[in-house]
Amino acid sequence: MQVRAKKQLGQHFLTDENIAGKIAQAIIDTRIQNVLEVGPGMGVLTKYLHEHIAQFKAIEIDKESVSYLSEYYPDLEVISGDFLKIDLSSMFEGEFAVVGNFPYNISSQIFFRVLENRNRTTSVVGMIQKEVAERIKEKEGNKTYGILSVLLQTFFDVEYLFTVHENVFSPPPKVKSAVIKLTRNQRAELPCNEALYFRLIKESFGQRRKMLRSSLKTYLTLLPNCKFSTQRPEQLSIDNFIELTLQVEQALNEKKAH
Ligand code: SAH
Repeated sequence: MQVRAKKQLGQHFLTDENIAGKIAQAIIDTRIQNVLEVGPGMGVLTKYLHEHIAQFKAIEIDKESVSYLSEYYPDLEVISGDFLKIDLSSMFEGEFAVVGNFPYNISSQIFFRVLENRNRTTSVVGMIQKEVAERIKEKEGNKTYGILSVLLQTFFDVEYLFTVHENVFSPPPKVKSAVIKLTRNQRAELPCNEALYFRLIKESFGQRRKMLRSSLKTYLTLLPNCKFSTQRPEQLSIDNFIELTLQVEQALNEKKAH
């Protein structure tokens, strides 16, 4: 089949059936019976998935792909739409998993949506740019540790499943790819204010080369003895960020009380 890629949609169609089967198997192994595929394209993953999952749905933005899938897989529930805009809470009753060979240009946004819906999204198996996959599983103390690593690892266990060479796609992307798996962890609720936790992480990594006393100045002037003041965000573990948030929260409350 000859396919013309639409660049702005991040279309790189997987041509290796063996890899498609492996990605599908990773989600089937979770035994989750509600699964949403993002960007099925011509259905290379879909055909390994839909018969094994009780409630399988796919969302695809490209109208041509949607008509192709509806013709070849008439029993399939294909939603014509944008994963970034769809209301995920009404998609399934209960928890669900997300799978896909993601459009790389929006992979970070896909993960932010997963984070917003983390109470219902228990697993993700996704093919993304290798570099992004490495960043997501990175630990503190490393240059590539960033917002997505901290936020996703706060709520999910991250596994790097395998690397995928660019020549198994049509057209081949310019970068190597990787498949990662996220599994919701035990941390249901944070012990600190969650909105503040997200804000401190985003603001500190927004100026990642600066020490926290300067990137988080508005908060840390309230905490002159904070042990994290002279550190950079990449040095803080998840527990450190939680501790920092608790300290800031307390200082803000005290300020309000006075
Ligand atoms: N799963 C297929 C296609 C992967 S390419 C395969 O492996 O061959 C990425 C797919 O995501 C394309 O089909 C593209 O049209 C679709 N896509 C891009 N942006 C999207 C969005 N916002 N919501 C849903 N699908 C999207």
